[in-house]
Amino acid sequence: MNPHGSLFVGKGKQTIFMLTRLRGEQIHHTISVSYITPTVFILRITRRELQFKPGQHLTLGIPGVGELREYSIYSPPHHDYLEVLVRLVETGRLTPKLAKLRPGDEVLVDGPNGFFTLTDEQILHPQLFIATGTGIAPFHCFAASHKNLDYTIVHGVAFHTEQHDPRHYKPGCYIPCFSRERNLPFAGRVTDWLRQNQVTPQTEVMVCGNSQMILDVWEMLLDQQHPMEKVRQEIYF
Ligand SMILES: Cc1cc2nc3c(=O)[nH]c(=O)nc-3n(C[C@H](O)[C@H](O)[C@H](O)COP(=O)(O)OP(=O)(O)OC[C@H]3O[C@@H](n4cnc5c(N)ncnc54)[C@H](O)[C@@H]3O)c2cc1C
Repeated sequence: MNPHGSLFVGKGKQTIFMLTRLRGEQIHHTISVSYITPTVFILRITRRELQFKPGQHLTLGIPGVGELREYSIYSPPHHDYLEVLVRLVETGRLTPKLAKLRPGDEVLVDGPNGFFTLTDEQILHPQLFIATGTGIAPFHCFAASHKNLDYTIVHGVAFHTEQHDPRHYKPGCYIPCFSRERNLPFAGRVTDWLRQNQVTPQTEVMVCGNSQMILDVWEMLLDQQHPMEKVRQEIYF
């Protein structure tokens, strides 16, 4: 079994590639693929009454393709469709195929899964959401689901053209950090932002994206003596 849940079965000289069923993926249908940056698109699929908590993820595949990948749910539970935010990895095995989906095409969906969610108690505290790239997806879902949430999203992207739906957030709550250009509101990485901003001890911190960024953020919060039981993370790769 490989890490993505696929199984290779030898049969004589022939090797048959089989996609194992996790807990029984359901067939959903593509509604649209729309780009919000040159390399990031929203895949909208039918809901089929799937219930989920903001912050959870789905495991997606395409019938016959033999690859399954996890995607945080971008849209809130009160919408009658499901959306995920996908970075097109040119050399990737699944994302180039997701990018080519057309309205009506079938998508395999397993889930929801995951515990990167907010409890009723946590929702009462100020939230600092730190993300790089598509790691913003669960935070978009939180912001759209909980209208009274007190949150700040610090979002790392290379250029201002890579901001992800900035108008979807309350004014002043979305802080893009541009790592490869000098531009307002912040030039530098999310870790540079954190170096210049002390996090108050009552703040719940959630971090999502690549593992190196998450490790760097942890180190900085330790330096700031932030209570680490108030820090949670979701690692994408
Ligand atoms: C819990 C969880 C939630 C996830 N949610 C999302 C999500 O909401 N959106 C999303 O785009 N991805 C998400 N991912 C990553 C996603 O599952 C795939 O790994 C990614 O889409 C690449 O798939 P692929 O088959 O095209 O590439 P593969 O052939 O599997 O190649 C993987 C390589 O692609 C690169 N890569 C993987 N993900 C990203 C990314 N997001 N940005 C840049 N480079 C990447 C890494 O170098 C990785 O080693 C999530 C992963 C996990 C574990």
